[in-house]
Amino acid sequence: MQKRLKVYNITIKPKYLNIYKKSYPLINIDFIDGLNNSIKEGSILNLYSTSKQFIALAYYARQNKGYGWILTTDKSQQIDTNFFINKFKKALQYRDNLFRDNTTTSFRVFNGEGDGIGGLTIDYFDGYFLITWYSEGIYSFREYILEALKSVSKYKGIYQKKRFDTKGKYLDDNSDFVCGTKAPNPLLIKENSVNYAIYLDDGAMVGLFLDQRDVRDILKRRYAKGKKVLNTFSYTGAFSIACAVGGAKDTTSVDLAKRSLPKTKENFEINSIQNQNIVVQDVFEYFKYANRKKLLFDIIILDPPSFARSKKMTFSVSKDYVKLLKEVISITDKNGLIVASTNYANLPKDKFKAFIDKAFKESKTKYKIEEFFSLPKDFRVDRGFLEGDYLKVFFVRKLS
Ligand code: SAH
Repeated sequence: MQKRLKVYNITIKPKYLNIYKKSYPLINIDFIDGLNNSIKEGSILNLYSTSKQFIALAYYARQNKGYGWILTTDKSQQIDTNFFINKFKKALQYRDNLFRDNTTTSFRVFNGEGDGIGGLTIDYFDGYFLITWYSEGIYSFREYILEALKSVSKYKGIYQKKRFDTKGKYLDDNSDFVCGTKAPNPLLIKENSVNYAIYLDDGAMVGLFLDQRDVRDILKRRYAKGKKVLNTFSYTGAFSIACAVGGAKDTTSVDLAKRSLPKTKENFEINSIQNQNIVVQDVFEYFKYANRKKLLFDIIILDPPSFARSKKMTFSVSKDYVKLLKEVISITDKNGLIVASTNYANLPKDKFKAFIDKAFKESKTKYKIEEFFSLPKDFRVDRGFLEGDYLKVFFVRKLS
């Protein structure tokens, strides 16, 4: 059994007591007294009010601005295999309809604080589980977590990604494969009957962002038929594939990364789709080319990373989205649709909407917002922590 670390008693500043009573799950350094640098990752923290009332039990972990996550308000709760078994059982039950859905074999089964444990996500890919550890703190519970996952699920294999800095330390398992049988490369999964190729052991990303499932599906079912589609920041082409399966007239996928070409090709091939355009280029260069050639599209998908750096430029959603949208507006046909998406957690929905408004006003073009999407149901959000509700996707119609 795992050896556990010291337990620390810490105090919530009076001003912030109420937000913790309302079940805010994150340990914010500004809200707390008694944290110091000698506390080891994974230590248990007992949170008290200044009048020594017990409020909650948390684990210590550095993750971006956070210093840990609350696990329970029950002081006597042991954080052991049983604790994780209970959380996982509930999480699997919550996704029961997805497990029963033969047309979709890939989705999120455990979404961090939304399922009661910040810093940990688990995705499901046709019988294989992928655990993502966001801190050394949560990783220190790995034996309990693995034992719990194995005991509550049927699995072919378990993989992991470490999304924290190991500071060069050797962490006993340096491979992404954990146990069971290894997945084929690629592993073919289905999402609303569309096939995608997944690589569980090939770098930080597996080939598909599961949080856009609903957006891909509606594009396929309601928008794509007969349309000319441009997919910018296309990665492995997932939006293009969904549109092509939905009957798009043609698709063009643009991404700077060389690996996007073979991966996008492969995704088309496994859906028996031929003759699509795949362009390896900086999107800003592509916009120049499209303007020069007077190309116009019926649907343009704009889902950039929050930050990116290429040889020539740096891009950030908060600085550059308006500029990007104006380029997109200029090559969208009249009555065309722009799918404006961002996963940047620090950009609130209203501010993002204001970017859209600004871009259309500066382009002297009218528009109408037709739909809005946020995370799908399996990316469960903690109502006490709306920062976790990061995805914002507007379907915007260009009117004139
Ligand atoms: N929209 C995609 C995910 C985008 S991931 C999807 O839903 O699957 C971000 C992608 O942006 C990466 O593949 C990266 O290579 C690409 N990228 C970053 N900067 C770029 C640029 N300036 N031009 C084109 N692609 C870029």
